Amino acid sequence: MTQHSSGALSERQPRIIDQVDAAIDRGEVLRYLGYPIGVSPNAQLQSILDRWIEEAYRLATPRAIYVVLPVVEKDRRRLWLQTSGGVVEFHGAIGEFLGASRSVAAFIATAGPGVVRLAGELTSLRDDLAAMVVNAVGAERAEAAEAAVIDQLREQAEPVGFAPTLPYSPGYCGMELTEQTKLFSLFDRENIGVTLTPECLMRPLKSVSGLIGLGPAEEIEEFGSPCDRCELRNCAMRR
Ligand code: SF4
Repeated sequence: MTQHSSGALSERQPRIIDQVDAAIDRGEVLRYLGYPIGVSPNAQLQSILDRWIEEAYRLATPRAIYVVLPVVEKDRRRLWLQTSGGVVEFHGAIGEFLGASRSVAAFIATAGPGVVRLAGELTSLRDDLAAMVVNAVGAERAEAAEAAVIDQLREQAEPVGFAPTLPYSPGYCGMELTEQTKLFSLFDRENIGVTLTPECLMRPLKSVSGLIGLGPAEEIEEFGSPCDRCELRNCAMRR
């Protein structure tokens, strides 16, 4: 990765993460299934969960792709990134999420097609509970692939005194879902098998995408989480 005189980190080519080493986080799977922290399923349910968590984990093929681009300009609502094909403009609560960024990493992460396929088969067999567990594992694996991107960014940013922000995804917290088309346009030449429907939904379904800012560590820390300033008190996504 290159650091420019402006302080921005950037890299011309996207990087692919083909292997995610993190073991499954069962607590996170239970959270996706709606269990509050510290509450466990009863013994009867536990054996069903164990079986389908194991099966879905075996089928999951988490992967991710990301590219780090310098910020040309930004204000409260807009962000301009320099790409090899020109400048791309994103809209959203940029000031809140990416305000301290000098560079921004765009990423796509996925659990792969296997878990989604299995969940679909289970749904057609009317085994809704098993399908829910498999879908929860899919969400956890996509999140693990996203975490692998953040880990790599942190490793690359630390030597120059930078740190990553929280991820900011199209469809959340004031960024329109249609911003996905701009994000996906950054991976026109190379992707990891994730596509967008005309409604801007990702396929495989258990995929996440977004922007992660990179800026001076002390500024990122001082900036804190946008959730601390958000008025949506009951938001389940609060971080
Ligand atoms: S509290 Fe919820 S809506 Fe508000 S910034 Fe955080 S995640 Fe977004």
